[in-house]
Amino acid sequence: MRVAMISEHASPLAVLGGEDAGGQNTHVAELSAALVAAGHDVRVYTRRDAVDLPVTVRAPDGFDVVHVPAGPAEPVAKDELLPYMAEFGAWLAERWRTDDWQPDVVHAHFWMSGLAALAAGRRTGVPVVQTYHALGTVKRRHQGAQDTSPPGRVRHERELGRSVDRVVAQCQDEVGELVRMGVPRSRMTIVPSGVNLGTFAPLGPAAERDGDRPRILTVGRLVERKGFQDVIRATALVPGAECVVVGGPPAGLLETDPYARRLRALADSLGVADRVKLIGAVPREEMGRWYRSADVLVAAPWYEPFGLTPLEAMACGVPVIGTAVGGLIDTVVDGRTGDLVPARDPQALGAAVQRLLGDRIRRFAYATAALERARRCYSWSTTADRLTEVYGEVAAVRRPTRVVA
Ligand code: UDP
Repeated sequence: MRVAMISEHASPLAVLGGEDAGGQNTHVAELSAALVAAGHDVRVYTRRDAVDLPVTVRAPDGFDVVHVPAGPAEPVAKDELLPYMAEFGAWLAERWRTDDWQPDVVHAHFWMSGLAALAAGRRTGVPVVQTYHALGTVKRRHQGAQDTSPPGRVRHERELGRSVDRVVAQCQDEVGELVRMGVPRSRMTIVPSGVNLGTFAPLGPAAERDGDRPRILTVGRLVERKGFQDVIRATALVPGAECVVVGGPPAGLLETDPYARRLRALADSLGVADRVKLIGAVPREEMGRWYRSADVLVAAPWYEPFGLTPLEAMACGVPVIGTAVGGLIDTVVDGRTGDLVPARDPQALGAAVQRLLGDRIRRFAYATAALERARRCYSWSTTADRLTEVYGEVAAVRRPTRVVA
């Protein structure tokens, strides 16, 4: 099938360029590659954010990336992009009407892409599939006044869910959230993200260890909601273990990063500064080395739309102790591939880590089950197969084209 991916702010080429690519860039790049491998013809449409970009670039994995003129040809913050989505959608519709390439289905990533996709879909009759990645309701609940999303995000997300041909949710928790927002369950299919089983595997080099100290690894952007402070508090309850924090700014900039300084001060005040190491940003291709060096991955977010790091650890054969939020509820099988504990509860986290680090047999059993689960349920080819079904279903029911002046 011909599949158009819309990823307004997150170009899959940023992953190749080694720029500071977020989760959506990687997701779109790996999903598009998997769809090409499954035999689809894939074009990814992303906003043109520099003047010197060619209109179309062929990625090494065999999909095309098309740079759409919408708004200024310069970087614009994600939360400022809404005014350009009408232009984005109109450009797509015009292109698909006049080009010899018309998609059978358009798959939008993030709500703003959804608005552009829906506008183009309505003009051309192309069915629309929506993946939100994150939801405004959840963000507002947790971030309150600090949420910089454009006003109207939640309303747009609800409308989108009611208008598109299919919503692809990534986990059960997201389905519940969408139903509470008023999106009909009948429009949704759960297709979780995949994990790159080539990059993340149990065999391969591992980062150096500090003697015999058991290693707790925790990974992510250094933002409060990822719960690193809870992991450090938990470490204080596990004598002898070291806590390695991967992510945030490059190592050289940790000194000046306010949150990194807070974490260091916390470790100091708990008397564990010598057992807590902040590593800073690690290039994606080196992440496997860090996972493989760990006895346990601890993921303690306060909320998490999906959460790739637990899956990456599992694919490396590392057990996970996570908080029971968002996608972790589905990916981590409590008592089999890891343990789930309540969010923002360092005591419970510490107790779970202590128990697992003290029990080799349980660790081995979890590690084996985690690896098997990652391989069986979360390969990108499985994701591509499930989406192929979804695309086939929505393409079979073509929508009438609405004439828009
Ligand atoms: N990551 C990385 N280098 C780092 C820290 C994280 O490449 O120093 C990657 C990590 O392997 C994962 C992604 O960043 O693929 C984080 O995804 P996740 O879903 O956990 O969180 P998000 O940042 O999307 O909220």
